[in-house]
Amino acid sequence: MPSIRVTLSEPRSRGYQILIQPGLLSQAGAVLGRHFAGQAPFVMASRKVWGLHGPALAASLKRAGFKDWGLALMKDGEQFKSFEEYHRGLQALAAFGQGGQRRPWVLLFGGGVVGDLGGFVAATYKRGVPFVQIPSTLLSMVDSSVGGKLGIDFATGRGVIKNLVGSFAQPQLVLADPGLLKTLPARELKSGLGEVVKTALLFDARLFGLLEKNSAALLAAQPALLAQVVAACARRKAQVVERDEFDRRGERALLNLGHTFGHALESAAGLSWRHGEAVALGLVCAVDLSQALGLARDPRLKRVEPLVKALGLPTRAKGLSAGRIMAAMSEDKKFQGDLRFVLPLALGQSRLVVVKDRRAVERVVQDRLATKA
Ligand code: NAD
Ligand code: MG
Repeated sequence: MPSIRVTLSEPRSRGYQILIQPGLLSQAGAVLGRHFAGQAPFVMASRKVWGLHGPALAASLKRAGFKDWGLALMKDGEQFKSFEEYHRGLQALAAFGQGGQRRPWVLLFGGGVVGDLGGFVAATYKRGVPFVQIPSTLLSMVDSSVGGKLGIDFATGRGVIKNLVGSFAQPQLVLADPGLLKTLPARELKSGLGEVVKTALLFDARLFGLLEKNSAALLAAQPALLAQVVAACARRKAQVVERDEFDRRGERALLNLGHTFGHALESAAGLSWRHGEAVALGLVCAVDLSQALGLARDPRLKRVEPLVKALGLPTRAKGLSAGRIMAAMSEDKKFQGDLRFVLPLALGQSRLVVVKDRRAVERVVQDRLATKA
């Protein structure tokens, strides 16, 4: 079974393993038994995912000798990555923890929303109890379950700010079962593929070729192929996290390729776009900008747009306002004065660029808003 070891060097951090295999859910109990024998898990699961795959997980835990466990079913959707749900999760965990003299560990089962929120519950209850991620969306397998960023969105006087409150804490283990993606809605699968294309463009020309060759099988959620893709992406993200666990050295910032345009598109579209859709178009815009500024020096970058299209992701944004997109970009918390973008120089190589030519950015946005001639 593909297994990726995340090795962390900071004194307070511990490394961990990411296991990836179709059908892994049915072996989850046995694997977890080796880490937590005799210790009761507190399961925090997306209500929907528990309805679909909970019985298989419960049976696997039972078979491995876990007799009692707590269960909190969490509401799904970004609007529930909230302080209220965090409070509710903490209350449920505290009640479970006080029900006996046990020191609970937390088993997170769901997409990025449950992983970020439930992970933050685990990281803050009693100053942190161990937790394990079983991600159930493609996005959470390739991105959010790796790297230890946890948190919730938080309402301020200026509206709700994403991930404003949170912490870093690494899981004890990540179990990724690409078989779970069979039940994932097509739009969510595609959204995850947006981040996969990002990883390929950033680091991995071979992965890029694999995606090009297999777009139909990817959209059909073929588990063996997805296992390969998840392993490639998790490995790349783990490597970045190993070098820059706490986002201090600028390496993690590379993972924002496509996200400066992407966040602005999400915000201009009033959040009706899925994140990975906005990132996909953001990647195409980043290639455009890199070409406009004369930085792109690899003809293979021309293959980004057709790949995005083949995966059913947007390459144009009809109906959005260029003014709103530019305004959103200027407000993005990642800007300090000048516009800063991660731009691809070649397939497999990008770098952070400070862009002084605002007009060039505007032209890219304008061109992508227009319908194709
Ligand atoms: P999500 O958790 O909201 O899941 C998307 C939808 O898919 C939900 O409706 C869920 O019920 C459903 N679903 C999940 N698994 C399913 C399955 N196997 N079958 C059927 N339906 C299923 O969204 P997401 O895209 O997984 O995660 C988005 C979140 O991740 C955002 O809040 C984002 O900020 C966060 N994120 C965090 C990091 C990080 O480093 N911590 C990185 C990227 C994104
Ligand atoms: Mg992202």
